[in-house]
Amino acid sequence: MAVNDTQIQDIVRKVLAQLQTEPQISGKPLMGVFEDMNDAIRASKKAQKEIRALSMDSRERIISNIRKKTIEHAETMARMGVEETQMGNVGDKILKHKLVAEKTPGTEDIVTTAWSGDRGLTLIEMGPFGVIGAITPSTNPSETVICNSIGMIAGGNSVVFSPHPGAAKVSNFAVDLVNRASVEAGGPNNLAVSVVKPTMETSNIMIKHKDIPLIVATGGPGVVTTVLSSGKRGIGAGAGNPPVLVDETADIKKAAQDIINGCTFDNNLPCIAEKEIVAVEKIVDELTYYLIENGGFVISREDQNRLIATVFKDGKLNRNCVGRDARTLLSMIGIDAPANTRCIIFEGEKENPLIAEELMMPILGIVRAKDIDDAIEKAVWLEHGNRHSAHMHSKNVDNLTKFGQAIDTAIFVKNAPSYAALGFGGEGFCTFTIASRTGEGLTSARTFTKQRRCVMSDSFCIR
Ligand code: NAD
Repeated sequence: MAVNDTQIQDIVRKVLAQLQTEPQISGKPLMGVFEDMNDAIRASKKAQKEIRALSMDSRERIISNIRKKTIEHAETMARMGVEETQMGNVGDKILKHKLVAEKTPGTEDIVTTAWSGDRGLTLIEMGPFGVIGAITPSTNPSETVICNSIGMIAGGNSVVFSPHPGAAKVSNFAVDLVNRASVEAGGPNNLAVSVVKPTMETSNIMIKHKDIPLIVATGGPGVVTTVLSSGKRGIGAGAGNPPVLVDETADIKKAAQDIINGCTFDNNLPCIAEKEIVAVEKIVDELTYYLIENGGFVISREDQNRLIATVFKDGKLNRNCVGRDARTLLSMIGIDAPANTRCIIFEGEKENPLIAEELMMPILGIVRAKDIDDAIEKAVWLEHGNRHSAHMHSKNVDNLTKFGQAIDTAIFVKNAPSYAALGFGGEGFCTFTIASRTGEGLTSARTFTKQRRCVMSDSFCIR
């Protein structure tokens, strides 16, 4: 059979595309990563039937192998993530992968509710949705793929990922890892699937597909709105702009250290990270002193204007600045900051765009407040009603309660860095999908199940 020029070009294009997009664990092609979204969904549907037939014990074996492989490949994924997205830092990304591996709940998170009495026994059993569609961000790409996979598989689901196009390589590496872990543990292939080249088009195919009843969107306001308008059940983990409030009763030295640690973790990429400070007047100077001691670098009003012109382009966030460290950002405005610089700080009005906008950069504006009531009012304004995350340093229980009630966020960390909310230096489980918009809060396996009432009439009550 003769092959014409167009066909040869087509073959060469496909081979080159594969070579460019195939990071491999063991020299083999990526498992679960398809050219075509419809093929991926078909394979996922088959995998879901297979996992549904397996015992809970088998699901748990698959999950523990995912945990093991995530720890083994934490550094690889951290390096790939930084290289591909140019955001964040390798050391913190290693910690994030380990956290996901160790503290994302598995099948133990799925609990049964029971009533028994004269009329028998009734159970609420938590069963799978089936094939879940998950849209994942560029800021915690492989962490979210692994975290969502563990929770969704624990619930008996399979998952079709639509990763951020700018983080496709590392996200697909994680998809492959999940499938290798499953097959090695005796489970099905394609429990997690994705496409080689995710685009808006492939994402829309996934959102509209008849075999996908639930969409989980982790990202900015655009994607959450799209998913919530899809006519399907949607879980929306959207944007935040977490303020951290400091009052006069706080341990100011510790507060400064915690704030800098939380704000600079992975160069401020986590959506929960401290994005601006609101402090009562009395302690602003002392707090600033300790912020500087912890690597804060104070910039002038002129430098702020230069920074505004750099981090915003045509009214939008300049993606070249997102997730960069403080020294790199300062070098972009011509400042050669000392090596111990960790965070850019300045005092400003709450309307300053470096304060009011969610930047995902280690830049902390300090807003001065007259007293606690003024501080609460300013912090609530800065959170923009996202109801995502807020933090506070205080020893006054009444102030803590007042702020907690007023800000009404899914996460409220007291007297610790923001990452304590993810179980890092705090109690509780880890997740990288915080459903602020739709109210599920910190998602876990049980979020990805649906209730089934199971009634046995007049029997099985043995009281
Ligand atoms: P992003 O919104 O640019 O992208 C997120 C995902 O949505 C990507 O996969 C992208 O391809 C897709 N997407 C974007 N617009 C879409 C649309 N209209 N239709 C369909 N898909 C669309 O976000 P990002 O820059 O990767 O991540 C940062 C943002 O995500 C921040 O706002 C951050 O606060 C938020 N975030 C929230 C959580 C959470 O748990 N609540 C976690 C991580 C990130």
